[in-house]
Amino acid sequence: MGSSHSALNFGAGPAKLPREVLAEVQTELLSYQDSGMSLMEMSHRGKEYTKINNDAQKAIRELLNVPDNYKVLFMQGGGTGAFAAVALNLMNRTGVADYAVTGTWSSKAAKEAAKYGKVNLVFPKADKPGSIPPESSWTLNPDASYVYYCDNETVDGVEFPFIPTSPHGVPIVSDMSSSIMTKKIDISKFGCIVAGAQKNIGPAGVTVVIIREDLLGNPMKICPTVFDFTVISQQNSVHNTPATFSVYVMEKVLQWIKKNGGLQAMENQSQDKSKLLYEEMENSNNFYSCPIDENCRSRINVPFRVGGPQGNEELEAKFLEEAEKLKMFQLKGHRLVGGIRASLYNAVTRDEVALLVKFMKEFRAQFS
Ligand SMILES: *Cc1c(COP(=O)(O)O)cnc(C)c1O
Repeated sequence: MGSSHSALNFGAGPAKLPREVLAEVQTELLSYQDSGMSLMEMSHRGKEYTKINNDAQKAIRELLNVPDNYKVLFMQGGGTGAFAAVALNLMNRTGVADYAVTGTWSSKAAKEAAKYGKVNLVFPKADKPGSIPPESSWTLNPDASYVYYCDNETVDGVEFPFIPTSPHGVPIVSDMSSSIMTKKIDISKFGCIVAGAQKNIGPAGVTVVIIREDLLGNPMKICPTVFDFTVISQQNSVHNTPATFSVYVMEKVLQWIKKNGGLQAMENQSQDKSKLLYEEMENSNNFYSCPIDENCRSRINVPFRVGGPQGNEELEAKFLEEAEKLKMFQLKGHRLVGGIRASLYNAVTRDEVALLVKFMKEFRAQFS
């Protein structure tokens, strides 16, 4: 198995997967359940994949307590594909939609949606992400087809501390690519949830869509078939070849989450892990600083600057270099934001975060 001391992976996505899951995949890779074939080589309509497809849907339903009047779909095109798919499937009712832009991904989603209809920003886009205006100040359009927000801005480290609501009964749509399965959520508050798997629940290649049934059936005429929620739902996510291997690994990750205490355990653990980091920042006299308002700091992606609130790029480069010596990888902040970012997805353990914090203390002692 190569080096036994594996890397500490704080990457933002694709991201760390549970070792147990990868080891299981390894044992099955050449011969899936004594078939003499790899799952990768099997038909998406065969009995093996059909079971995986159904088991994965069932696990998502159980973990998230998905009500009966919602469908669970597996699609391709990533989170970015979903930006278009949401508009193409849901904007047809009125041709307009409300967007809460709180960072990089919701900004891209709003831009994509504007290709297909009228986008109304419910508050002005900030120059620098870092806060979420109070809901009472949002200008919601009663005619909007939906209200869109990104639950956790992966690049910027801004996480919604609440689920937006619409006084007009407009469906709420959320991009949960980086926060799905890290906390309990009430699915009944949503019209639609989209999530690329490669942050918390699997490898790249599959996008999970959870959608209320009454929102199906009204795609735009120009909606590509592979992005058509109604078609994908009617065909149980095998209208065309899905990312079978990605769904297979995702199914194992979902079972791993169940075995490890489900979403309550994931939520407790993520609170705990992020607290370790934010506490070190607080104790650091601004040597480490997080630019995000305290009420919306992400539990999942923690960005910070080193050497003062504006960041000292030399020190940050040194920080990354020293971290890599300790096998702590993928800590570089997003190229648009700079600085450092630690991503604490479900597979990242508390012990690993404690090691990172220990290193941060030592680095601070040496360089502050
Ligand atoms: C990663 C990410 C995306 C983009 O996903 P792709 O699969 O790269 O298209 C969109 N939204 C959020 C919140 C993400 O974290």
